Amino acid sequence: MMEKEKTQAELLKEKLCFEKEHFSVAMTEEECKKADEFCEGYKDFLATAKTERECVEYVIEKAEKNGFVPFDTKKTYKAGDRVYLNNRNKAVILAVMGKKGVSEGAKIVASHIDSPRLDLKPTPLYEESEMAYFKTHYYGGIRKYQWVAIPLSLHGVMLTADGESVKISIGEKEGEPKFVITDLLPHLGKEQAKRPLSEGIKGEELNILIGSRPFKSDAGSELVKLNILNILNEKYGVTEKDFISAELELVPALPVSDIGFDRSMIGAYGHDDRVCAYPALEAVINCTEPERTIITVLADKEEIGSDGNTGLNSAYMKYFIEDLAEMEGLKGRHVLSKSECLSADVNACFDPNFPSVHDKYNCCTLNHGAVITKYTGSRGKSGTSDASAEFVGKVRRILDKANVSWQIGELGKVDEGGGGTVAMYIANLNIDVVDLGVPVLSMHAPYEVVSKFDVYSTYRACYEFYAAE
Ligand code: MN
Ligand code: MN
Repeated sequence: MMEKEKTQAELLKEKLCFEKEHFSVAMTEEECKKADEFCEGYKDFLATAKTERECVEYVIEKAEKNGFVPFDTKKTYKAGDRVYLNNRNKAVILAVMGKKGVSEGAKIVASHIDSPRLDLKPTPLYEESEMAYFKTHYYGGIRKYQWVAIPLSLHGVMLTADGESVKISIGEKEGEPKFVITDLLPHLGKEQAKRPLSEGIKGEELNILIGSRPFKSDAGSELVKLNILNILNEKYGVTEKDFISAELELVPALPVSDIGFDRSMIGAYGHDDRVCAYPALEAVINCTEPERTIITVLADKEEIGSDGNTGLNSAYMKYFIEDLAEMEGLKGRHVLSKSECLSADVNACFDPNFPSVHDKYNCCTLNHGAVITKYTGSRGKSGTSDASAEFVGKVRRILDKANVSWQIGELGKVDEGGGGTVAMYIANLNIDVVDLGVPVLSMHAPYEVVSKFDVYSTYRACYEFYAAE
């Protein structure tokens, strides 16, 4: 059959217009198979490491298996050497020394391993109406009404009076008890239903039900609370005062699952931002002979603004790069100024249930690959680094050359709201940085959804960024 000759307009369109390729072109059977395989590892990570501390443990164990050793400032390193730096068991840096070292700057992929959750208050335990509860203070941007009437598990550490660190994890393994925040029944929820959605459940109502049986049968007050303390003391050797020196977090005790008849998606707690941390980890492990030194930073505290000494507003990444510079007789600030970074974080995936919050010409969509976000921020680009045209151009060329599926995305309509990532703290060090990551549905909900193809594309993007000169 003869092909119809193209019109002048069609030819010009081909030359000048940016037409998005149909998503089925990139999603070949072979690529989908690779994505599915890659995501089995990711699902295991999701199920094993639900908090920043558990992520650091997982990452270091995997890194050591792959030849990474603790970073030692007194040593000298050669190309291909692999090191890691554990920051207070809550953040971790991994690096592979490049053939050129850091003389032309380092290549960094930074993501975060903390997720929105409910933290226990310093004095959390109380008894009310013969039931025992924990008081919480939520961590990060949550929609409070989503966190009631779902199973929760407790993770973290408690430091006893003599300084012993006691690790706690209850509610994940089969047979272990879970915890829950109760909600009103609809029959009596008439007044509550009149509250605006943001106040449907209030912060001080996020109290966790943890017990209801009294200690023995002696008469006395607060025997349910006493019974809980007795159980905790028998199991962990802790007392009520030890809650003051503790970091205990409640997270959804929901299983990681494939979503959809076609198993194309993954449902889980805390994709944001483990869905980028895992690709960043795999990329630094698999990129064995980089030209420039490559660094994966897995940071804490992003969800509350990156403050604190394990967040990226702290100097630990800067100090690490300065140490690498000094080892090569270079000035830290010169190396920092030549470095480049992907701030690997998620973006809001277009949701056809709520189309009005997105600009359809500038939002990211499911299954179209890793999303580059030039700027985040809110109300007139406030609180963002806004990557330069030059650096976005460079990343675009790397991804196109390696045939990585990617798309561009904005965080919602101009006046709709917004958010931020670690990019601006990295930009403060005079490093070129742009956000790149996975589109997420129901972001910050107890159960978020991502596409396997997008997770794999983000891994490929991180890897190719590292592998490029
Ligand atoms: Mn994030
Ligand atoms: Mn977030």
